[in-house]
Amino acid sequence: MEQDCLFCQIITGQRPADIVYEDETVLAFKDIRPHAPVHVLFVPRKHIRSINDPAENDGPIVGAMIMRARALARTLHVDRSGYKLQFNVERGAGQVIFHLHMHLVGGWH
Ligand code: AMP
Ligand code: ZN
Repeated sequence: MEQDCLFCQIITGQRPADIVYEDETVLAFKDIRPHAPVHVLFVPRKHIRSINDPAENDGPIVGAMIMRARALARTLHVDRSGYKLQFNVERGAGQVIFHLHMHLVGGWH
């Protein structure tokens, strides 16, 4: 937990979010400024800065983010119409929140 981290504050319940999935490893909530009909952020409970930073033994965390996103895509019926899983890595790529997160975007017709 990083005191000043917005996503840590959502994880600990100090800040509200529209949570759509959670387990012991990851949390998923709706993006506040959606870019698509479905736009969900998957974040690990552990504070990790970006995809540059997971340690070798954090691999299962990254794996869980992808597997849970895949399952949610199916639940939300966007698995066949199509979706993207995106990590923005550091400022040059548009990362503005420095707690690892993966965008699930889809639902276009
Ligand atoms: P990135 O540009 O990859 O760092 O993405 C950060 C994302 O977090 C953006 O798409 C924002 O719209 C989203 N965001 C910022 N604050 C919140 C919040 N309080 N709840 C949900 N999503 C947020
Ligand atoms: Zn954090």
